[in-house]
Amino acid sequence: MPQPLDVLHATFGYSAFRGRQSEVIDRVMAGRHTLAVMPTGAGKSLTYQIPALCRPGTGLVISPLIALMHDQVRSAEAAGIRAAALTSADDNRDETIARFRDGAIDLLYVAPERASTDGFRRMIDRAPPLALIAIDEAHCVSEWGHDFRPDYRLLRPLLDAYPDVPRLALTATADRHTRADILTQLGIPEDGLILAGFDRPNIRYAISPRDGLPRQLAALVAETEGPGIVYAPSRDGAERLAAALAATGRPTRAYHAGLDPSVRAANQRAFVASEDMVMVATIAFGMGIDKPDVRFVAHAGLPKSIEAYYQETGRAGRDGDPAVAHLFWGAEDFARARRRIETEVEEARLPGERQRLNALAGLVETAGCRRAVLLRHFGETPPAACGNCDNCLNPPASVDATEVARKLLSAAFRTEMRYGIGHLTDVLAGRDNAKVRTLGHDRLSVFGIAEADELRLIKPVARALMARDALRADEYGGLSFGPAARPILKGEEAVAVVLPPVRAKRQRRGGPA
Ligand code: ADP
Ligand code: ZN
Repeated sequence: MPQPLDVLHATFGYSAFRGRQSEVIDRVMAGRHTLAVMPTGAGKSLTYQIPALCRPGTGLVISPLIALMHDQVRSAEAAGIRAAALTSADDNRDETIARFRDGAIDLLYVAPERASTDGFRRMIDRAPPLALIAIDEAHCVSEWGHDFRPDYRLLRPLLDAYPDVPRLALTATADRHTRADILTQLGIPEDGLILAGFDRPNIRYAISPRDGLPRQLAALVAETEGPGIVYAPSRDGAERLAAALAATGRPTRAYHAGLDPSVRAANQRAFVASEDMVMVATIAFGMGIDKPDVRFVAHAGLPKSIEAYYQETGRAGRDGDPAVAHLFWGAEDFARARRRIETEVEEARLPGERQRLNALAGLVETAGCRRAVLLRHFGETPPAACGNCDNCLNPPASVDATEVARKLLSAAFRTEMRYGIGHLTDVLAGRDNAKVRTLGHDRLSVFGIAEADELRLIKPVARALMARDALRADEYGGLSFGPAARPILKGEEAVAVVLPPVRAKRQRRGGPA
């Protein structure tokens, strides 16, 4: 039987295993079920490719996306590995099945919905024994994970039909709950978990409220050399931002599902080849792209979860050189996410979804080290400060804003929880304008109760209250109480806000206060 290290040298041309790759490979070589949780870029593919080459039989790889499978097949074939994908998009399926039966394939990629069929099981029974079954993106099997796919649940009978074939579940993003769930769902023993470090020390994390986003992004592009990705929340947003960033003089392209596939493919190729391109994309972009020199990843809006944030920012700096991950967010991102959760998510998944959003709120709202929050989320115990995130480099001014928060909540309550932040600010500031007067809000006890120096805190306070679900915005911006409002009003909980650096322009514009 060929030895893993020899295959690493001869087939892949690498001199040594990285991180915990060899531990994972050793376990699989010994025929034991394993869950490997390793950050993006850690080299997960090798951990199933090498045992598949060393052990007799074909390695079966379950993978969720056709595009991802084809990328993997291409790069495996480039290394001289006999690989194939069995999907609806491959019209050489009969040929692949024949090769598989002859034992002439090292790696066979297949989607979970196909792998769980009886026909597929019969095909496996007629071929030589499998070398292993790899389950890529294994967090998809868990409802706790950020990307649950019911098809993954159907895999278990297939796995159990071949108890002696080692299963290797792989994921970059799984918190403690999700990890435990993957083990149970896929029948992997607890001691089969191999958890690699999540820290990406060369990535500098920064998170700011949106305040003139095109200008903020242009500044980031101007100060960061090399290729970068800007994640936009929508196709329209991607197009608009791409147009705005093209004005910076950097080559800029867009990538989203609304583009013609040929344009999309051309843009992706151009980006992979480029040394300075900015790609403005929806999150469809990036999976399976091997571009180690991405120097920045920016988010134009809130990602779906900390896991998604970690995975997306993880595309920066895979070569180990310094890189930047900058997230720009607004209170409306939280408002929209909360509305989606409360209206669209089924009962059973509500607690998980709420918790995920609260964890994100904790990350964006913290005045402490971003990396520490991230790593703690993944179950590590990091030092309190990393020295390479915005808050460590420029400790923000954190002020106690409990009193302002209570005034704002009272104003929302007294006005029957229907008005947006602009009107509530007018009421608190005591501005005697037409709307205030028509509604009779100048006669409320909250009219004019905010001190002049409190007014500048209202916006950050509103942001903080929405992030932690004390205030909820309807689709017109009208603010009402969320479950976290009462404890603040009753004085049981404090509210601190982090003040963004004050810009000169803002001071010139001046406030009505
Ligand atoms: P992941 O799937 O964990 O995100 P990949 O499997 O795509 O990571 O590997 C990331 C990059 O690292 C690839 O270019 C891969 O060839 C490279 N790589 C993997 N293992 C090693 C190693 N031991 N030495 C050098 N490069 C490696
Ligand atoms: Zn830090």
